[in-house]
Amino acid sequence: MSVKPVRPFSSNFRWDGVELLRYKEEGSAPFRDVTRQVLFEDPSIAAQLRYFEVSPGGYSTLERHQHAHAVLILRGRGRVLLGDTVHELNTNDLVSIPGMVWHQFRPSGDAPLGFLCMVNADRDKPQLPGADDLAELRIHPAVAAFIGI
Ligand code: MN
Repeated sequence: MSVKPVRPFSSNFRWDGVELLRYKEEGSAPFRDVTRQVLFEDPSIAAQLRYFEVSPGGYSTLERHQHAHAVLILRGRGRVLLGDTVHELNTNDLVSIPGMVWHQFRPSGDAPLGFLCMVNADRDKPQLPGADDLAELRIHPAVAAFIGI
């Protein structure tokens, strides 16, 4: 991305000149209706700031990894699974996701859930839950209902 000092916010949570990307490679992991925009990346800062948006009925990948996420909800409401707990999310809430904690985002209601996510530029690949992991997650009824698998 070429460096422009100011990128105006346009309607519908797009920023001038920022490309709307696929969340992940199709088929690489389970997810539904998620887009990604890379807002900041600079070799002098070992981090990336992305904006993700999940459409109503969609969900991010249920995953875990060594790297942490710092998340700020920018748009809508939703819920996040963190380990064995499902948390309600409102606009402007902050979410800290430590390393190796299972996590997944889902919007609530008819509106998209949009969030900023800061992450290491160099990071390990997300792990997907195996059958044993899913069985352990499903011990908690609220988690079983949330992940829906
Ligand atoms: Mn993640």
